[in-house]
Order: sequence, then C-alpha cells, then structure tokens
Amino acid sequence: MPKTSTPGPAGTTGASRSGGGSQGDLDTEVRFVKGVGAAMAGVLSKLGIITVRDLLQHYPARYEDRTQLARVSRLQDGQRVTLRLRVSDVESQRAGRRMINITRVAAEDDSGTVVLVWFNQHWMRDRFLKLRGREIIVYGQVRYGRMGFEINSPDWEVLSEDDSDPWSYGKFVPVYPLTEGLTQGRMRRIVRGAIEKYAGLLEENIPTAILDELDLMDVVSATRGVHWSESEAENAAARKRLVFEEFLYLQLALAQMRHEEGAAAPGIAFKAPPGLLDEIRSTVSFQLTGAQTRVIGEIWDDMARPHPMNRMLQGDVGSGKTLVAVAAMALAARNGYQSAMMAPTEVLAEQHYFSISPLAEPLGLTVELLSGSMRAKAKQAVYERLREGCIDVAVGTHALLQDVVEFHKLGLVVVDEQHKFGVKQRGTLRGKGDAPDMLVMTATPIPRTLTMTVYGDLDISVIDEMPAGRRPVKTHHRDLSRRTEVYEGVRTLLRKGGQAFVVCPLVSESEKLQTKAATELAGELQTEVFPEYKVGLLHGQMKSDEKQASIAAFRAGECQILVCTTVVEVGVDIPSANVIVVENAERYGLAQLHQLRGRVGRSGIQSFCVLLSDAATDESAKRMDALLGTNNGFAIAERDLEIRGPGEFFGVRQSGLPSFKIADILRDGPMLELSRRKAMEIVEKDPKLLSAENRRMGRVVEEKYRRQLLETVA
Ligand code: ADP
Ligand code: MG
Repeated sequence: MPKTSTPGPAGTTGASRSGGGSQGDLDTEVRFVKGVGAAMAGVLSKLGIITVRDLLQHYPARYEDRTQLARVSRLQDGQRVTLRLRVSDVESQRAGRRMINITRVAAEDDSGTVVLVWFNQHWMRDRFLKLRGREIIVYGQVRYGRMGFEINSPDWEVLSEDDSDPWSYGKFVPVYPLTEGLTQGRMRRIVRGAIEKYAGLLEENIPTAILDELDLMDVVSATRGVHWSESEAENAAARKRLVFEEFLYLQLALAQMRHEEGAAAPGIAFKAPPGLLDEIRSTVSFQLTGAQTRVIGEIWDDMARPHPMNRMLQGDVGSGKTLVAVAAMALAARNGYQSAMMAPTEVLAEQHYFSISPLAEPLGLTVELLSGSMRAKAKQAVYERLREGCIDVAVGTHALLQDVVEFHKLGLVVVDEQHKFGVKQRGTLRGKGDAPDMLVMTATPIPRTLTMTVYGDLDISVIDEMPAGRRPVKTHHRDLSRRTEVYEGVRTLLRKGGQAFVVCPLVSESEKLQTKAATELAGELQTEVFPEYKVGLLHGQMKSDEKQASIAAFRAGECQILVCTTVVEVGVDIPSANVIVVENAERYGLAQLHQLRGRVGRSGIQSFCVLLSDAATDESAKRMDALLGTNNGFAIAERDLEIRGPGEFFGVRQSGLPSFKIADILRDGPMLELSRRKAMEIVEKDPKLLSAENRRMGRVVEEKYRRQLLETVA
C-alpha cells in the first residue's frame, strides 16, 4: 500500500506519523477510504484533507439538534424542526414569469402532512419518486403557507431500512464545512465510515492520570462524540476533551519555553537598595497609583531572582507605564548595569527619550538617544560612551541591535510595543548582555485569553488603575455630514486655549498616498477652516528631525492643530491637547481608535474625542458604540476581539497566533486557563517531559509546536 508522501497541513503531523503505512493506518490517503476514490479525494484535498487523520479531524462547523423529533400536528410557523416523515407524493411544475421549476414533495407522519419545496432542482422529482413510501429525516424551518406547513430546501436524508443503524436518526447531527462538489450528506457518510473503521486507531496523547483527574473522555470516544452524539451534553463533553488537548500542547510548549529562558537559565540577581522607591516618589510631582507601586514591586522581585526576567507590562494609555520602566532601569543602574529601551519607530524612540529623561535624571541616571538620523560623529560618541559604561539608559530603535553597538554591562532590556518586534530581534538584543532581564511594554490592552496563547511564555504585570484626577475623555460619534459643526466645536475649545489633533483618514496602505492625504487635509484646514490658527503636520514620511520639530512646535503651543496620520497612535504625549478628531473613524480597528483617543485626556482638563464616520454599517455602528460606551481599554479589547476575531485583532503582522482545529479562544477561555495551569504544573515537576508518563507528551509537543513556536511567537 502506498505510503502518503504529501505532508498534511500544518499541525496534522502527529507523533506517530512516521510509523506504519499500511491501509489500517491513520496516515492512509483518503482516496482509499470507502466511498471516497480518486475524484472525491481531489475535492477533499481542497479542504486540507489528505489523510484519514485529517478526515477524523475535520470537525463539524455546527450541529443540527435532531434529538427531539417534532410532530406535524404541533408545528408552529417559523420553528426549526426535525421531522421523521414518510414520502407520499411528488409533483414538479414550472411557474411564474421566469418559469422557475418548483418541486413539491408531500410527506407525512401519523399526525399530518408537510410540503417540502425545492426551487430549480428538477432532479429532486425523480429522486423522490423513487422514495415514495420510504421514511426520511427532514430538518429545516417551517413556514405556514398556502398549502399548510411547508419547508423550503430542507436538509434531509433517507432513513436506513434497518432501524438498528445507530447513525440513522434522533441524533445531534454534524454540519461540516464543505467545498464545491461535496454535499453535506456525502460528507457525513464519508466521515461516518472513516470513524467506524479508523477512530479506534487514534493515539491517546494525554496520560490516563490526567484524563481521570479532569474527568475527560479518551480520544477515541471524544472523536466519535464530536462528530456524532446522542445529545448536546455528550457532544459538549467530547468537544471539551479535544479542546483541552489542543490547548494543553500549546501550553506545554510555552511552559517549556518559559522554563528554559527563565526559571532554568542563569541571570542577574539585582539587589534593591533600601529606600529606592521613596527616592522615586520624591522625584515626581504626583502620587504613584496603587497599581504602579504594585507593579514596580512585581518587577523588582522578578529582577532580584538569579534568572532572566521575561515579563510583559500591560497598561492602558496614560496609565503611567513610563515611570514603571524607569523604576526598573533605576534598579539596574544602582546595581551597575545599563538598560536599553527599544521602540518600534524613531518618533516613538524620541518620545520615550523625552518622557524618560525627566523621570530618570533626578535619580542620577544618564539617558541618551541613539537615533538613525544622528550624524555619524554624534553616533560614534554615543557608541563610545555606551561601551565605557558612561550611559545608564540607551533609547533607540532597531539601531540598538547593530553590531557596532556594544554595551559595557547590559542588564535590562525594555521593549516597547512588543508585537512589532520579532523573537529574533529580542534574541539579538539579549545576546548583547549577560542574560539581561527583559521587560516588554504594551499599551494595547490584550484580552487575557490572547495573552495566554500568544504571549504565554511571558509573565504579566498589569497596571489596571488610572492616575487620580483624570477625567474620562468624552467621546462623540458624528456623521461625516456634520463635519463643519464638529470643527466649530473644535474652534470653541481652541479659543479657550486648547489644542487639537486631527487624524487624517486612512486612505491607503501606501505611505506616499497617506502622506498626500494628510498634507491636503492640513492645507484645507489651514486655509479654509482655521485661518486664524496655525496648523501643523505630522506623518510617517517626514524625516525624523522634521517630525520632532513638528511635535515640539505643537508641545510649545506654536501651533494649535496638529494634522497627523496614525504615527501618533502610540506614545505621543502632549498633556495640553484636549481634543482629537478622527476622520473616517470606521476604517480603524477599535483598539486603534482607543489608542488614538488616549492621545488626549492626559492631564486634569476635560478632553474630547470626536469620531467622524460615514459608513453606517452594522459592524461599524457596533464598534463606535463600544467605544462610546467605555474608556476601559481592556473592555474595548475584548469587544474588538469578539467583533473582528483573533486574527484581525493583531493585524496581519501578528503571525504568532496558533491556528486551532477545534479550540476557540473566545469560547473556550476556561479550558485555556485549565490547560495552562495543568501545563505549568507538569513542566514544573518534569521540565523536559522525560518521565515515563510524560515522555509521549514530550514527543508530541516537540513535533507539534516547539519548532514552530520558536520561529513565530513574537
Ligand atoms: P503610558 O502608560 O501611556 O505610557 P505615561 O507613562 O506616558 O503613560 O504617563 C502619562 C502621563 O501621566 C504622563 O504625563 C505622566 O507624567 C503622568 N503620570 C504618570 N503616573 C502618574 C500618576 N501616578 N499620577 C499622575 N500623573 C501620572
Ligand atoms: Mg533577574
């Protein structure tokens, strides 16, 4: 028997894939499955189904609940029902001006008759003529029509003559994802046949002790049950087991990564000098929030361990992450170590430099910016001072990764907006020091379920409290037709000394076109709308010093309006700005709009955010409502995830999200938590998964995830 040579789609490579190859094997090509054949195998391959294993793992998209059979005499208009009926009569006719073919099948139970209707499927007539007197199962929505109860284009199948057929009716019936050339009935029969013949061969990849402890089904029963079961409850139990398995393997891989890069690896044990926190408190004009104090404690404790820290700091815009980062840098400096702070863009690096310096310098830290646009000579000087250890904190972009950049003693790496940094870059920077600690900061609140999957190798600290005295930004949603009115509102604020951001519509992926749009908008606002004020411009194609000049002018109040592209999305900190107008807001994701909104409301004054949008689609309305409803970034992130799904949530750049066959991180949050706890427990006791009971899991993790994770998790 030919062995499969076509590798299955990613993730199907089971642990025992390489073994065997006979026809009784899960790696048997589907064309050898009863009822498939070469032509159908071609159709199935379009669904990624190459082997029997793939077929068994082609999970239903949903189910039809046929556990309750309805009776014709009790039907109600609009109901979705499953009926067991006997075919009594068939007629077919052409009707209407367009001569549509209508096939009507009368079918009855002992309480009455229902008419099943198909349009333009004339072949149905012949099929049902042959079925007169036979029993069928029909599933569909009932309408009360001219001829009594009707069901249009129902899902149906012929009941086996043999009533003992366990698959025949009264079940929780699978509805599979299909492709052209494949009907639901055919797919059901194919999978059903494959289950009967092959499901028993599925390997059990979870130790019995764990199955028992968590009361989970074995893999064979679960696979059968997820395709066909007697009840919704049975199906749920089957699904639960398979979801757990999928999550468990990811979590095992992540737990092993955490262990190897963290708990098991040697690192720097920083010692917190007494009074450092008080010293920090005394250098700022405000009171630290409880969350800031707590998070600084978490980070310092972690830094004190003789292992590398791998921690993510999450906090909504304006929650005060910069001070927390500075506290970590101060601890490093007091121990004689340097820190590096990396930002994704030059503008942001400069912003960080400007916000870090005033907090770090009173603590005696020397902060320097290393920017790509600096003159060669100035750069050389920074390199030298870095090498000699005269600089405590270096702020920059990827430039900090270059070979020429050498640190005297690098102890802490702070990475901003980590999802734009690859794991390789993280590694390179880490290679520059002696296993330095790593703190990843993100202002994008990430729902916990996503954090656990995509950033599952990191420990998490969350600043979940805003500085006191902040007034929530008032958000309004206005139709584009009211643009003039909105600008009058802006004028009123400007008259009282306010400042406004105007975010130009997202017109194109192309920076060039985007720049053109921003430039035009700035021109229009300057000459036609706000001639009495000065309008500035900030976009991604400006040179770094031009950008800086623009921001500086706005900060100094030399211009009152700053027209910008989304380069202001993160990090630009102008406390006096009190209104932001986002044009064509419907083109942005929720999280992104929330980030934009976070550019204002950064001081005690009342600020406003106006979302201008025209497309009044349902989805865009939902998104705007979510934003109007709350200022809580985490709530918005959850909503965004629900509306757009996990892939879109991060945008195309995020490739670290594993694809699951059955698990759904939106639905299965509790299972994710459970699998994570279990995986950590297992890895803590047996980090390399070498014990007799874990060895098999170790192999599966290796095959399934580790290589892939190391490449893609950012
Ligand atoms: P983000 O979390 O968005 O990076 P920042 O660290 O830039 O926030 O802080 C936003 C603003 O709030 C800054 O102007 C900062 O000086 C100020 N800030 C930080 N912590 C506090 C606090 N505890 N009380 C009042 N203002 C604070
Ligand atoms: Mg440490």
